[in-house]
Amino acid sequence: MTELDALTEQWLRDVMAAGFVPGPRARSRAALRDLMQEMAAAIRAEPFSPTPGTGIGRELVDLRMQKPQVLGATVRLFADRLPDLLDGDADENRTRVLLVLESLTTGFVTALREVSVSAAEEMNRTEKLHWKGRQRELFDRYRRAVLHDPRSGLPNRASLRDHLHTTITAAGCRDRAGLCLLSIDRFADLDDALGHDRGDRLLQAVGGRLQTVAEDRHYLAHLGEDQFALVVTGTTGTEQVLKLADRARAALDARPLLLVDDLQLMVTVTAGVVEAPVAGTDPETWIRDAHLALGTARTERRDHAVVDPDRARADLHRHRIAATLPAALERGEFFPAYQPLYRLADRTVTGVEALARWRTPDGTVHGPDQFIALAEQTGLIKALGRSLLAQACRQGATWHHQGHDLLISVNLSPLQLDDPSLVGDVADIVHRSGLPLHLLQLEITESAAVVDRHDTLRRLHDLGVTLAIDDFGTGWSSLGSLSRLPISTVKLAAELVADPASPIPRHVIRLCHDLGITVLAEGIESAAQERWLHSLGCDNGQGYLFGRPTSPRDVTALL
Ligand code: C2E
Ligand code: CA
Ligand code: CA
Repeated sequence: MTELDALTEQWLRDVMAAGFVPGPRARSRAALRDLMQEMAAAIRAEPFSPTPGTGIGRELVDLRMQKPQVLGATVRLFADRLPDLLDGDADENRTRVLLVLESLTTGFVTALREVSVSAAEEMNRTEKLHWKGRQRELFDRYRRAVLHDPRSGLPNRASLRDHLHTTITAAGCRDRAGLCLLSIDRFADLDDALGHDRGDRLLQAVGGRLQTVAEDRHYLAHLGEDQFALVVTGTTGTEQVLKLADRARAALDARPLLLVDDLQLMVTVTAGVVEAPVAGTDPETWIRDAHLALGTARTERRDHAVVDPDRARADLHRHRIAATLPAALERGEFFPAYQPLYRLADRTVTGVEALARWRTPDGTVHGPDQFIALAEQTGLIKALGRSLLAQACRQGATWHHQGHDLLISVNLSPLQLDDPSLVGDVADIVHRSGLPLHLLQLEITESAAVVDRHDTLRRLHDLGVTLAIDDFGTGWSSLGSLSRLPISTVKLAAELVADPASPIPRHVIRLCHDLGITVLAEGIESAAQERWLHSLGCDNGQGYLFGRPTSPRDVTALL
């Protein structure tokens, strides 16, 4: 081995010690030997030029011998040993070696910078790709979270809405579609009993079972909690969707669902079904209608119910009316009609019942069945009740000043009874109207006279107004409460007095009289009824036989 070869061998060891060099060792050795030859040739060359050093430096980097330590080891090794191995003038050789090493350093560093720039770019690129992938993944996860139910993993309500929207916009005008809303019976109880994890399993199992009935043209979604939805496109009628509902029920009925720990469970579902042409509708209406149908099925204790278009329209109508009530109250469109109350013994008018009416701007007069329940649902009943009470009291005061002391009987909604300001309001209203307090009677239904309202009723009585139980005999009143409450009058429900064979009026009348309570029979329409009730000792009566609810002027004419 020549001395140059020995030096090459040392160089290889130093390079290897500096860091990992990819590829077989023999290839590195051969490459370094070539570079060593180039180096020696450059130093001996005449005329001398250091520039080949640059190429050698670059070459090292290209061979992936690019650690800074490689450069350091190379410079140290050659500066120390190479000058002595060459023939000729030692000083001259030393200078030439240092000059070549200097240019080798330049080549090495330049090449390294180029490599690292491209390495940096490369890193940057892969980083970007990685980040893009990560973004995609995050986005996918986000989409999943937004469009899928976390418990079942099925598409959720937002997805369903999207799907319906696509179905509706894609459909031709003649296309029909169906939505079958399925609700797990008693799910809240099951979920509580099972615990959340098993509750999730249950939902997944139900989803899986429903998936088995879903065909290609069906779309299954989980609206959260107990509710799943199946969409069918291209239907021909309700029957088709009902059949799907039955298939879904049957799939769940077929065998128990297997949850964890060998826990098996049978569940049943109730269905609400909509089937209609898709044109001219919107996803929200579909979902709302299916909910309405589901509600109907639940209240009527049926397996399924179909949206009843009449009912849906009536609901819509009711909502529209509810929205117009506050403005109507503001415009003073509500007023009482007065129905006379008669003493059966001599047929004299002893009072009137104030019954709410609504005259809309077109002149139509609506009965209380059109608005009282809505006013109760929207909370407007308190303001409406105050307005009617004030009007009735003012009218009563007018009659009083004309010398007619009529009992003014006004209906109170249970919601008014729960209003803490009721007693104060009543006192205030009656006082302002000028009506003597004892001429005001408040009617409450027997179901409203529950124990927690007894205190309010007593305070009203203490105020000096009289109290009547309305529609007596239609609810489940406890007769016991009659004796405990400061009641002046019981109004026998029209249903009770409609049957002359009924023994109930006789007993109620006797009981009330024993308790010092007066009895009024409602809904008297015939003279025979009047005679019968009079013979039972009933004190007062009210009904179409005597007079319908009417204007104050008509009442005055009767007096
Ligand atoms: P209600 O308190 O039992 O009022 C008696 C209802 O029976 C009145 O109907 C009256 O017109 C009707 N009626 C009277 N005599 C006869 C009869 O001989 N035959 C028949 N078939 N019906 C008769 P209206 O005015 O439609 O009132 C219905 C219900 O609306 C009332 O039943 C009452 O529960 C409620 N209501 C009426 N006005 C008010 C009010 O100002 N406030 C509240 N909270 N509810 C009211
Ligand atoms: Ca009444
Ligand atoms: Ca009544």
